[in-house]
Amino acid sequence: MAWVTTHPPLRVDLDACVTCGLCLPVCPTYRLTGDETASPRGRLAAIDAVDTGVIAVDHRFGEIVDFCLQCRACETACPSLVPFGQIIERASAEIVAQMPSTVSRVRRFAVTTALTNPAILRSGAIAIGAAQRIGLAKVAWRVGLPTDGLRKIPIPHRSARGGSWGSADARVATLFVGCVADAWFSDIHKATIEVLLAAGYRVEAPAAQRCCGALAAHEGLVDDAARMAVSNRRALASADVIIVNVAGCGAHLKADPEIGGRVRDITEVVAAAIEDGRLPALPTNGERVAVQDPCHLEHGQGIVEEPRTVLEAAGYEVLDADPGGLCCGAAGMYLLDHPDTSTELGRRKAEAVEATDATLVASANAGCEMQLRRFLGAGYEIRHPVELYAKNLSSL
Ligand code: SF4
Ligand code: SF4
Repeated sequence: MAWVTTHPPLRVDLDACVTCGLCLPVCPTYRLTGDETASPRGRLAAIDAVDTGVIAVDHRFGEIVDFCLQCRACETACPSLVPFGQIIERASAEIVAQMPSTVSRVRRFAVTTALTNPAILRSGAIAIGAAQRIGLAKVAWRVGLPTDGLRKIPIPHRSARGGSWGSADARVATLFVGCVADAWFSDIHKATIEVLLAAGYRVEAPAAQRCCGALAAHEGLVDDAARMAVSNRRALASADVIIVNVAGCGAHLKADPEIGGRVRDITEVVAAAIEDGRLPALPTNGERVAVQDPCHLEHGQGIVEEPRTVLEAAGYEVLDADPGGLCCGAAGMYLLDHPDTSTELGRRKAEAVEATDATLVASANAGCEMQLRRFLGAGYEIRHPVELYAKNLSSL
């Protein structure tokens, strides 16, 4: 039997591909290798071959699927609307179900336990923050801990989980705090809360919410991702609008059949508030900012203009860094399995940023920010668009 899970890739989705090849030029792995099996069309052909029983789910099939960054640039390019992200996620789940050893115990522990446990995350954040201050972060990176791309973690570390801010009678915006975002990017939550309060919201961050499950789903661990989804649906059941400030989490949560319709990226909410006058357009400050478009914002959520609206209203001259370009190579845990590909894509993205001549960079995805920090020199400052708006709003 070709497939063993209850949700394999759907025949109707595979049949939607007309093999036109319009997705090939936007695919990072195809662009780097020129190999058809490293293209969206080639991967779909392999998945189709499993579905029809021509090939089995074996090691070679695993390699073809696993080499995909899941950046979804092919979805944006595809005239037939092939839901590639969903197909590849389902194929990954099949690989894990039929060859469980493809996900190591360490990886499984990382995405299903460590990243879903606030106490572990908080301890890790404090340890990394201390390592950064005594110069041990570089050593930690060399033994495999992802500290090299991190911004400096504030000590004392403040989690947004369980918090509430603002007037009791204001409309509530529910903050999705995430896992890594809450532990390592707490400044982004701080800025998000400040801007939402200024826009007239009350902000609440329910304590019972968990990791969004995107990393687990990308690893093919769909049962674990489904458990996280159940917890989040319960924790966020009464939320009117769910605010997410990490593009990867937002793209995953928006696909949830129960809560997805209420999920908004923070740039969507802030841009709307600027346009309807609840937030001000700030005076021009003479600074230039290069905007990087995270795949899970541009392709996963169709959001391109909103970060630019936020940054222009923050007073910046906005420059496009690599418009329509390839994935930066961060892609969850991709670096661990495909360091050469991840490094080459990161290097290319950094070159595109450098070509703008701006040393201030805006990225709305924590993973992309980490990748940019790895490849841009110390002379660059990389921030979330909402942080830049919050900073200039507070200095009005
Ligand atoms: S998701 Fe990205 S890497 Fe994967 S096939 Fe599509 S364009 Fe290529
Ligand atoms: S663009 Fe769409 S229809 Fe054309 S080959 Fe790629 S996936 Fe198939």
